[in-house]
Amino acid sequence: MIGSGPAGAAIAERLYEAHPSVSIAIIEQGPFLLDRHFYDSGGTIQDRDKFLSDHLHCPWDGDLRDGGALLPAVGGRGIVGGSQLHRFYETDFSLWDNGEWRFTEADLLPYFTEAENRLLGPIRCVGTSQDYAFLHLARFHARHPPSASTSVVQGGPNLGFPHRSSVERIRTLMTRDALSRTPRVSLIADTTVVRLLTSKVNPARISRARCASSSRPDAESFDIHGDTFIVAASPVESARLVLNSELDFVKSNQSAIGHYLAEHIYCRGYLDVSKSPELNLGPINIFIPPLSAALKDRFQIEIRSIRRPADRSQILRLTGSAAMDPNWDNRVEIAPGRVDRHGTPMASTILKASSPDEERTKTMLDVLHEVASSLGGKWSSRPLLLPRGASYHEAGTLRIALSENESAADADSRLLGASNLFVGDGAAFPSIGVANPILTLTAMGYRLADRLVELARA
Ligand SMILES: Cc1cc2nc3c(=O)[nH]c(=O)nc-3n(C[C@H](O)[C@H](O)[C@H](O)COP(=O)(O)OP(=O)(O)OC[C@H]3O[C@@H](n4cnc5c(N)ncnc54)[C@H](O)[C@@H]3O)c2cc1C
Repeated sequence: MIGSGPAGAAIAERLYEAHPSVSIAIIEQGPFLLDRHFYDSGGTIQDRDKFLSDHLHCPWDGDLRDGGALLPAVGGRGIVGGSQLHRFYETDFSLWDNGEWRFTEADLLPYFTEAENRLLGPIRCVGTSQDYAFLHLARFHARHPPSASTSVVQGGPNLGFPHRSSVERIRTLMTRDALSRTPRVSLIADTTVVRLLTSKVNPARISRARCASSSRPDAESFDIHGDTFIVAASPVESARLVLNSELDFVKSNQSAIGHYLAEHIYCRGYLDVSKSPELNLGPINIFIPPLSAALKDRFQIEIRSIRRPADRSQILRLTGSAAMDPNWDNRVEIAPGRVDRHGTPMASTILKASSPDEERTKTMLDVLHEVASSLGGKWSSRPLLLPRGASYHEAGTLRIALSENESAADADSRLLGASNLFVGDGAAFPSIGVANPILTLTAMGYRLADRLVELARA
């Protein structure tokens, strides 16, 4: 497994728990930065901003250059993200003609349920302000974010809303494994996979991953061998690894590899509600799902309270995230002439909004203003579009679409043209939909783990 974020963690934990014959190596380029979710360590949203600016890193050229980033660490971006863990909306599985999923919500149902049981934490807000905001947003069909049934809010209103994060799950796995009689998991941290190499006798088979020390790039590289390889390095990096691999199929112009990159179009504003006593009587965490199945309405809005450090008054952070249409031209390429410190060609990203994307964004901004006026208060910072990549919700690039011609991987998540290379992260999504990705990544990861074992038995 390459990558230890929410996608890699899900596949590893399911393989380990449900399939005792499997041994797993997780290769992660980052070190342990935290051993649990950032918010579980008592940090506030403002503390997290500082942590993000210290540790996020954008290794990409092109349109994601200004807003996109990875968090090289055990647990990946899952150690800071995940206040909202939604299922992929049922409508979005089949809404886009060229982005139809090969799975339905029913196919993923048991995996969604398991993901919710494991991940959802005490994130539910209760109290006067939550009730008040809820009532005033009723016409938008406002909802509480998904939470475990026993949840109550923890900590003060300035704290975030943690879930059981990828790093915590990997740590649990390592501890359980260390105590078992037959250890089966290796976590190889601070190690970057620089290339996937094919077998000399079978050019469709990956035989080993060439690895380099992340902190000592001058140290000698080494190879890790395996029967099955899973890329879960994030959609841009997984595509980059495949594009840089020796697989013949990658060179075909027809291949969808690298194409259909998408992310959520993000906008954010801050609403000063210090003059509304009802909105200062406790934390608020609410979301507004898409208003209809029409393409122009495929966006969601999250409303979160934050305490201003200066005077402890409450402000509301409103974030809109809109779907992007699946588009062949949006893609990951290998940047000509640019290499990283290991000498590996870097990724360049092309991501443009279509005119329906722009129309959707405009509707989303209008609705954000309507939401604000329903709550009262005044903007301390009006909603602005954030740079491309800033949602950190990339998808596509190695997609499993309904039509094989528009796919890079088959229904088993196996890369077309490769016999033992599987896509384990959001790269496999044929369309990005509206929901934040972690829960769906986890459900898809559990499904892939089961499928891998069935394939090995067949
Ligand atoms: C501030 C913030 C808030 C967010 N909020 C939410 C939210 O509320 N809800 C939600 O669903 N999502 C949220 N997200 C997004 C979510 O964190 C990501 O969608 C998710 O982490 C993606 O999981 P992943 O495992 O595919 O990738 P990542 O989490 O990016 O993990 C990929 C891992 O692969 C490693 N890697 C990459 N290349 C290599 C290589 N060549 N060799 C070895 N290792 C490699 C990376 O170091 C990384 O650890 C948020 C993200 C951020 C940053």
